[in-house]
Amino acid sequence: MGRAEDIASALASVRERLSSACVAAGRDPADVQLLPVTKFFPESDVRILYDLGCREFGESREQEASSKIDTFTSKLPDADVRWHMIGHLQRNKAKSVARWAHAIHSVDSPRLVTALGKATTIAIDEGQRTEPLEVLLQVSLDDDPQRGGVPLDELEELAAQVESTSALTLSGLMAVPPLGSDAETQFERLAVIHDSFRERHPDAINLSSGMTNDLEHAVRHGSTCVRVGTALLGSRPIASK
Ligand SMILES: *Cc1c(COP(=O)(O)O)cnc(C)c1O
Repeated sequence: MGRAEDIASALASVRERLSSACVAAGRDPADVQLLPVTKFFPESDVRILYDLGCREFGESREQEASSKIDTFTSKLPDADVRWHMIGHLQRNKAKSVARWAHAIHSVDSPRLVTALGKATTIAIDEGQRTEPLEVLLQVSLDDDPQRGGVPLDELEELAAQVESTSALTLSGLMAVPPLGSDAETQFERLAVIHDSFRERHPDAINLSSGMTNDLEHAVRHGSTCVRVGTALLGSRPIASK
């Protein structure tokens, strides 16, 4: 089979897997977005997914993403695509991300919020975007600062900072279970965190959780967006994150 056929059949299986997970969890499949993650794969794969009906894509490495997006956009300037930044972001890349990202799932520090607020304001002023940047706060489930994510006791302060930044919209929470942990337990805990967060931030309805290996657990515990790479496009080089 060619690449397009491979991806078409993988996409059909993932969609089926996701809708079965929703049915099993008593949830409406329309409430859980499938976000294809295209990091490490070429623009031609994005195009195949686009031709199969996908309109939102996740990328995790800023430089790779911006050059891929430039290529995609130069070929299809009128495509109605939304790009999501899902990986760790350094502040000095905020300017670039503010130009191309509809949403960022990995916000975990006050300094990054400040940088994104400024960068997005500039991007709006310069006509590179019209909408605020949607922000999901990445929650640390193991309180290990090395792994990214905001510790729970700093979450409220960070949320308040996003809410007081006019170029940013607080969209929800994101998390990645620590390596080797039990996904079911982690997502159950995350759902409790998100429920209580929403009491204070009713518009922060999104919960970005679940990947290739654990999406059923995530769907059972309130995910509104599963970020799937491997099951759609195959395995990445070992060194990838
Ligand atoms: C790479 C990546 C994914 C996709 O993971 P798969 O296991 O390939 O589905 C999801 N979320 C983040 C933050 C990633 O970096």
